[in-house]
Amino acid sequence: MGIGGGVDARRREVVVVRLGEYTVKSKGTRRWFERLLVRNIRDALSREGLRAEIRWDWGRVYVYGGLDAAQVLRRVFGIKSVSPGVEVEYQGLDDLLAKAEEHFSNIVEGKRFAVRARRSWVEGFTSLDIEKRLGERLLRYAAGVNLENPDVVVYVEVRGRKAFLYTDIIPGYGGLPLGSEGRALALFSGGIDSPVAAWYIMRRGAKVDLVFFNVGGEAYLRAVMPVARTLAWRWSYGYRQRLFVVPFWDVMKALREAVKPGLRHVVLKRLMYRGAEALAKRLGAEALVTGESLGQVASQTMRNLYVTEEAVSIPVFRPLIGFDKDDIVSLARDIGTYEYSILVKEYCGAFTQHPVTHAKLDEVEAEEAKIPGKLLEDALSAVVEMDLVSLGSIEGVEDLEIDEIPPGSVVVDLRPVEKFERWHIPGSVHVEFFDIFENPGSLDADKTYVFVCDEGALSREAALFLRKHGYRAYSLRGGIKRFKRRLKPPSG
Ligand code: ATP
Ligand code: MG
Repeated sequence: MGIGGGVDARRREVVVVRLGEYTVKSKGTRRWFERLLVRNIRDALSREGLRAEIRWDWGRVYVYGGLDAAQVLRRVFGIKSVSPGVEVEYQGLDDLLAKAEEHFSNIVEGKRFAVRARRSWVEGFTSLDIEKRLGERLLRYAAGVNLENPDVVVYVEVRGRKAFLYTDIIPGYGGLPLGSEGRALALFSGGIDSPVAAWYIMRRGAKVDLVFFNVGGEAYLRAVMPVARTLAWRWSYGYRQRLFVVPFWDVMKALREAVKPGLRHVVLKRLMYRGAEALAKRLGAEALVTGESLGQVASQTMRNLYVTEEAVSIPVFRPLIGFDKDDIVSLARDIGTYEYSILVKEYCGAFTQHPVTHAKLDEVEAEEAKIPGKLLEDALSAVVEMDLVSLGSIEGVEDLEIDEIPPGSVVVDLRPVEKFERWHIPGSVHVEFFDIFENPGSLDADKTYVFVCDEGALSREAALFLRKHGYRAYSLRGGIKRFKRRLKPPSG
C-alpha cells in the first residue's frame, strides 16, 4: 500500500528517522542541521529512485513513501537510527489500542514479545497504560510475554494525535549532515584504507572530493573507478562527489631515473601531498585526508609521516592513524568498497621492495630536488575531473584477465629480473615492464600474449596497452602469487 493507500488514509507507512548528536546544539544550529539533513534525505531518495513525502518536526523526520527507504536512509550521515512502520491517527486510548492490536496481531503470532511505549504531548494516559493494556490484548495471539529477552519488541510511540507502530530500530551511521562542515580533499588510491578514511571525514559532515595520482595507466584507473563510485553512490548523499585523476606516469619515470631506490616511496608521497595541496587550494578545500595508519607499512612509520608532511602546510587528516588493519577491513566491507579494493593491485612492483623506514628530511629534500618542478605542474594541469554520481557505465578490468594460459601463447614476465631468475613459469620470457610501452609495433600479431607480474597490476596495464595496439593480450589473474598457490596440491 502506497501513500494514503486508499483503504485507510489515516494509516500510512512511514519510516521514523532519529537524528544524531547535534540535537544538543543551539536552536539556530539545530534548525540549520535539520534543514541540511532533510535536503540530503531528499537527495538520497531521488538518487535511489524512491518517491516520498517528508515531514519534519523537532528532533525527528518522518518519511512516507514505502519501507524500502529505510535501507537508504540509514546511510545518510546525521541519522542515528530508523524504524520502518506505520503511522496511525487515533481518538483516545481505546482507539489507539485497537489500532495497535490490529497492526501487531500477526507480528507477535507464536512469539514471545514485549511492548515498549513512549508518549509525548498527550494527556489522559501514560506509557505504562499502553504497555499493560496492549500487552494483555496481544497475549492471545502470542506465545507469551518476555520482557528480558523477547523474540519481538512491539514499539508504540505516541506524539499528540498520532502514533507510530514499529518493531525494529535499525542503527544508522551517525555523524553530521554532509555539508555542515568544510570541504576536504582525500588522497585516494582505491586500496582498502583510503576509501575508509574519506568516509570518516564525510561522516563528520565535510564535502570530500577525491584525488587519485595515477602512477600506472588506464588499467589502474579502471580498477580504482568502481571503488570511488561505490563511495560516491552509497555515501555522498547531499553532495556531488568528484574524482580528480592526476597522471603521474612521467613523475614515476623521473623517480626511477633520478631518486635513490630506498627513498622513492617517501619522495613520491611528498609529491602527491604537494599536488593534493595545490589542487585543494584550487577547490577551496581546507584539509587533506589520507588512509595512513601508524606503522602499517614502511612508508607509514612516524618518521616517514613527519618527513612527508613537511612537504605541505595544509592540515592532513588521518582518521585511521590508530586503527588495526582488521578494523579497517571490516569497515571497508560494511561501506561496500572492500570487494572492489581487493581488485586494485599495488604498483609497488615498479619500486624496490625495501623502502627506508627512517628517512632523513634533508636527504629526502635533496633527492626530491632532482625532480624538476615542472613535472608536477604539468601533471596537475593535465588533471581530469569526473562527477562520480552521474558517471555512466564504466569499463572494468575483468575482460583483461585470464585464469589459464592458453596453449601456444607467449608468456611475458614483467617482474624485476632477479625474481625472474629465481623462478618463472616454464617457457616464459622476461621483458622490463617499461620497455613494453616503448616499441609496441614490433611484435608478432598472430600470437596471443599473456603477461604476468607479482600480483597482476603491471600485467593488466601491459595487456590493455597491447590490446589498444591491436594485439590479443591478457593478464594472468592474481599474478605469480596466485599461480604458485595453485601449483601446490590442496592441503587437508
Ligand atoms: P591504501 O589501502 O589506501 O592504498 P596503503 O596501505 O596501500 O593505503 P600507502 O600506499 O602507503 O598505503 O598509501 C597511504 C595513503 O597515501 C593512502 O591511504 C592514500 O591516502 C595515499 N595514496 C597512496 N597512493 C596514492 C595514489 N596513487 N593516489 C592518491 N593517494 C594515494
Ligand atoms: Mg595503497
